[in-house]
Amino acid sequence: MDVPSFLTRLRPRALRALRLLGRPGFHLFLTGILMVLGFVLAHRLSERSGREQLSALSTERLELYASNLAAELGRHASLPSLLAIDPTLQALLQAPDDEAARRAASRMLARVNVRAGTHQIFLATPQGEVLAASEALSPPARLAEALAQGRVHFFAADPGTGSTDFYLLHPVRQAGQPAGVIVVRFNLAPLEATWVDLGLRSQGERILVADDQDVVIMSSVQAWKYAVLDHADPSRRRALQASARYPQAIGPDLELPASLEVQQGQQVRLPLPGAKPMLAQQRQIVPLGLRLVALSDLSEVRQRAQYAAWGGAAFGASAGLLVLYLASRRRALRQLTQAQAALRQTHAQLEQLVDSRTKELRQTNEALKTQIAQRLKTEGELLQASKLAVLGQMSAGLSHEVNQPLTALRALARNSIRLLDSGRHDAVSANLQIMDDMVERMSRITSQLKSFARKADEQVAGAVVLLDCVRNALLLLEHRSRALDLQTDIDIPQGLRVRAEANRLEQVLVNLFGNAIDAMQQQPERRLRVRAIALDGGQRVLVQVQDSGAGVDAERLPHLFEPFFTTKPAGEGLGLGLVISAKIVHEFGGTLRADRLPRGMSFAFDLAVDGWGVDGAPAAAAQGNTRSGPALSQEDANV
Ligand code: ADP
Repeated sequence: MDVPSFLTRLRPRALRALRLLGRPGFHLFLTGILMVLGFVLAHRLSERSGREQLSALSTERLELYASNLAAELGRHASLPSLLAIDPTLQALLQAPDDEAARRAASRMLARVNVRAGTHQIFLATPQGEVLAASEALSPPARLAEALAQGRVHFFAADPGTGSTDFYLLHPVRQAGQPAGVIVVRFNLAPLEATWVDLGLRSQGERILVADDQDVVIMSSVQAWKYAVLDHADPSRRRALQASARYPQAIGPDLELPASLEVQQGQQVRLPLPGAKPMLAQQRQIVPLGLRLVALSDLSEVRQRAQYAAWGGAAFGASAGLLVLYLASRRRALRQLTQAQAALRQTHAQLEQLVDSRTKELRQTNEALKTQIAQRLKTEGELLQASKLAVLGQMSAGLSHEVNQPLTALRALARNSIRLLDSGRHDAVSANLQIMDDMVERMSRITSQLKSFARKADEQVAGAVVLLDCVRNALLLLEHRSRALDLQTDIDIPQGLRVRAEANRLEQVLVNLFGNAIDAMQQQPERRLRVRAIALDGGQRVLVQVQDSGAGVDAERLPHLFEPFFTTKPAGEGLGLGLVISAKIVHEFGGTLRADRLPRGMSFAFDLAVDGWGVDGAPAAAAQGNTRSGPALSQEDANV
């Protein structure tokens, strides 16, 4: 698969995986990646800079060691040439077998050796035979080889101490011919000791000097002395062991690379047990044919790199968590802004809604006010209209009520005139009494009519005698009740006073009685019962009007108190009587209700009692004195 198509296939998968992780999972994943990156980067950077620092330090030290060694070796470079012209030695060379000359030369060399601080100075023949020496030390085995090779200096191991000595050679000529050689011997052990000391102080830095055979001749680590710097195969090892330069035991192979970088250094691990990785650097000291190698311990650099790596991981984690925090903060801010915007919008909508609703309410209020005003006006007018309707209905009966007494009055008046003429004063007086009663009755009817026709709101509610109101109402309808041969049964205490306004209470009663009379028109039995029943321990009274009329269907019953509901023929009923009556009763603080009887209807309303009169308790309700007909059947009384 080619790379672009692989990426195109990988992308949806990666996206799906990220989607599966979710936002917190993604951030944790990111934090993990940042931690790993931080770890790796910090480790790398720290290790690199540590290596660079160590390498720079090591280079400086190498320079120091090299100059140290060069200075140490160069300190006496001119000594052999100076001694070569010494007359004592010249004399000895001219008479090599002269014992006195040998002793004199040896003494002189011993003095110089002490003054110069060298290890040994001797004069030898060109073949290597010692003629005079500052110390009675045997010459190195390598001397003959060095003389044969014409060397001016060489190193050789001291078989006694195991330390490396440096030898400076200077030929002495006489008459142009080589006559002898002056050899100055230095012991490098003190210098080596300072390196051991330095190495210890510089925390694990090792220094070693290898000769042209790549054998370590000086080292801050004793175990590495005479080790092979790189690798020695058996034949080379044998040759080295046979060489006069070194002691018999040649050390282990250090396996260092043949070419070591001077500046950057190179990481090496010596093939020794427990060896740690080290940074190796070398410096050539060409005139002496030596190589100076410094090995610096990398453990500290590595440890610092570890610390830095954990620091980097912690930084990565912090960065990840910071990103997580910033992202969640941004999300929270965005949500807050959105919520604020939504709130502002809702607030604006609400304000708009409230404005429009307030406006609507104001309009509705205005409309309601207007309607109420109209309704009040209409109600007042309707009340008046209903009264007029009742008055209209009554007018026929009234004319009869008035005309009949008038005819009787006329007859009685004429009769009285005649009786006066005949001097029968007693009879005239009796006639006049009858006439007075009749006039009284007529005036009562007219006054009722007058008060009934007045507008309701002109009246003031007070205490009225219930029985009087009932009687007045019956009186207004007397012409109809008489025509119908109505039997009335009134069961109301004589002095019972109720909180009401007489005219309007009478209006209610006239309505109820009128409806009862209407309902009983076609009935064979016509009985009207009006009674007062004490409620709330005599605080209130229930006025009940029952008839034996045609009654009302169960379906029509709920509609009785609806305006303009009537079953009567046009012109006879308006359908307002019960509505107005219920309203008046309501204004008195009571409720008007209708109930069906097995035969007929029962209308009842409650009123506040002002007093029960002289009869007192409702139990002592007056009976019989107002009765004008037989009592209702037991069946009715049970309702
Ligand atoms: P109207 O008498 O002008 O019809 P009402 O409001 O007084 O108006 O009465 C409404 C209707 O209730 C009457 O048409 C009648 O059908 C019925 N109603 C009222 N009282 C009685 C009653 N006592 N018996 C039977 N029906 C009645």
